[in-house]
Amino acid sequence: MAKPKDFTTPELGDYLRVPAVTPDSMVHSQPFVAKPVHQENLGYPGELVDNWQEVAVAKLGELVNGSRGLQVYLDSCVKCGACTDKCHYFLGTGDPKNMPVGRQDLLRKVYRRYYTLAGRYLPKLVGAEDLTEEVLDDWYRYFHQCSQCRRCSVYCPYGIDTAEVSMAAREIMDSVGKGQKYCNEIIGKVHKLGNNLGLPEPALADTLEGLEEDVEEETGIDVRFPLDVKGADILLVTPSADFFAEPHIDGLIGYAKVFHQAGLSWTISSHASEAANFGLFIGSHDNMQKVAVRIREAALELGVKRIVFGECGHAWRVGYSFLNTLAGPFDFLDSNYPVPQHIVEVTHDLLQQGCLKIDPQANDDKRVTFHDSCNVARASRMGDSPGGQFTLPRDVIKASCNHFFDMPSNTIGEATFCCGGGGGLLTDDLVELRVKGALPRMQALKEVNDQHQITHMAAICAICKSQFSKVFPYYGFQMDQIVSVHQLVGDALVFNSDPGNGRISQ
Ligand code: SF4
Ligand code: SF4
Repeated sequence: MAKPKDFTTPELGDYLRVPAVTPDSMVHSQPFVAKPVHQENLGYPGELVDNWQEVAVAKLGELVNGSRGLQVYLDSCVKCGACTDKCHYFLGTGDPKNMPVGRQDLLRKVYRRYYTLAGRYLPKLVGAEDLTEEVLDDWYRYFHQCSQCRRCSVYCPYGIDTAEVSMAAREIMDSVGKGQKYCNEIIGKVHKLGNNLGLPEPALADTLEGLEEDVEEETGIDVRFPLDVKGADILLVTPSADFFAEPHIDGLIGYAKVFHQAGLSWTISSHASEAANFGLFIGSHDNMQKVAVRIREAALELGVKRIVFGECGHAWRVGYSFLNTLAGPFDFLDSNYPVPQHIVEVTHDLLQQGCLKIDPQANDDKRVTFHDSCNVARASRMGDSPGGQFTLPRDVIKASCNHFFDMPSNTIGEATFCCGGGGGLLTDDLVELRVKGALPRMQALKEVNDQHQITHMAAICAICKSQFSKVFPYYGFQMDQIVSVHQLVGDALVFNSDPGNGRISQ
């Protein structure tokens, strides 16, 4: 695969080194700016408005007044330095503005200037600065070098969440007409057609039919991929990457095999054919809500009893943490099941109930590790006990594979490193950032690989899967070494002629 020639991939060593601080080493990195049509589709000005300073400062005030959390984050940093070496983008680039505290300060200095007494009268003394064009440019660069992974907040003694600061900054930039093309174009497609790809219903129906044929050819079993089936029990909401991308599609095949063998009735909706919700990445409650409401509308229209989310990290955060607030109440669904439920929870429950037969030997050619995705690890849970988001996926993998090995403990679970492409950064205009930001995860993979000769890394996030497919070759791994957790399940599932009745007790 061709590599851009203008940057050098960081080298993997025996352990992860903290780089020398290199000011401005990523000052050239920024994503394409949204075109007027992408902005306007989301309700934002098409281009930078004339009085943008005034609008931006007012928006900042509105956000701070509306979120006690944001105000506390901007007020309470004591510059202790605990976060400085915790961000994968700093570790991969050495740019001090990629230290979480450095990133926060880009917004904090403007907040101080306009919204604190000391900043108004003694700006130099308290590090307060006017919002100038240079500052806006820095915001655009460095708030698009944050994947909103929240790793830094785990190590901050005050729990300051840089992801929230980054979302606020992006929302301010959108409101003055300087949004990011990748995210805003995608959100516009969801508003119009129901998915990130802009895939219309006939194309989706065609794709699902093709999958039915492929699976029947491979297994001899008539596994269905139902679309818009009224009266189905389960509405599956999954990232649209599951419909076409590798290795995502093998995950979708895995879900379908599980539903089939458990005897569960399910459907996908063409109205809500997307689990991803990029409204989160741009910090826009309104856009996030508009995307989420499509799921409610689809559930009502199809008369389902349950909503199940496929493998998508930030979608699960939005689903788990915000779906009820954004689009609830969901009191028309079956109260025996959580709303929503993760596909890993469904499979885990089915395995516990003995409703699925799995032969892990089918994956004996694989030696597998697992990448905890940030939004699942640090912003949600699974199952009914703390830490379920870490144990459930591992239980499912271990049921499907005989050879599982974790990466070093300071790189998994709550301490997991971002893949480098989350938070709306999974775009080719940010390849250098993505490759460099993947360094800590690649180092951890190398370490477990050196010890256990790993062949595959499994993940439950569509963005992680796409990002690893892209960056693995830069670090000497093969792009097909990343797999969906449900590919492992689907490959190990033993079909029999007496599928379970699919009832799961709670
Ligand atoms: S949220 Fe993640 S990407 Fe953003 S500054 Fe913190 S560690 Fe870095
Ligand atoms: S760890 Fe928290 S308090 Fe310390 S410098 Fe970082 S953001 Fe500030």
